[in-house]
Amino acid sequence: ESFFQFDLIDPIQRALHGEGYHRPTPIQAAAIGPLLEGRDLLGCAQTGTGKTAAFAIPILQRLDALQRRPRSKAPTVLVLSPTRELATQIADSFSTYGKHIKFRMTTVFGGVSQGRQVHALQRGVDICVATPGRLLDLFRQGCICFDDIDTFVLDEADRMLDMGFLPDLKRILHELPEQRHSLFFSATMPPPVKKLAAGLLTDHVEVIV
Ligand code: AMP
Repeated sequence: ESFFQFDLIDPIQRALHGEGYHRPTPIQAAAIGPLLEGRDLLGCAQTGTGKTAAFAIPILQRLDALQRRPRSKAPTVLVLSPTRELATQIADSFSTYGKHIKFRMTTVFGGVSQGRQVHALQRGVDICVATPGRLLDLFRQGCICFDDIDTFVLDEADRMLDMGFLPDLKRILHELPEQRHSLFFSATMPPPVKKLAAGLLTDHVEVIV
């Protein structure tokens, strides 16, 4: 197994090489190919398995392919995470793997003033990595538009439900375009999580690690 098997663009190969990644982890080996083809994904994986790179790499490669098109200010990629810490880590991963790619990103989470987040959204972003509560606040204030979202990632879905985010999540999902690519990650798959996944995914690939 090697990253060369995926036809990753040179700027991503260079970033992975710079990080000292030589081999894809099992979830990366199974997920990157289908995600580059635009498939939906259900990933049953814990933190530490390399799941962030498994979705960040194909998302960045697809963003890069769209680069020459005129870009709107509204994000095309929305990643939801249950906590501010995880959202920050995910954004750091996008920055690392995408360091040779031009893209715009902001994080959106509570516990800090919303000014910087709103400002970044006004300037325009490609990727928004958010926690549900603050994201809904900003949506209700008209600070973020979901009309251009073509890729939606739900990370740590089980924790999201444990933390009581289901109502917020449902409200957000209701606002997203129906035609989109969805990626769903969870460390565990109890029935409520399975049900949520079933409602979100279409013709998906399943990876269990
Ligand atoms: P994650 O499961 O996404 O939180 O990633 C766990 C850790 O594994 C992170 O610190 C990554 O930098 C690292 N990592 C991810 N993919 C690889 C890889 N293919 N080779 C070496 N380290 C990796």
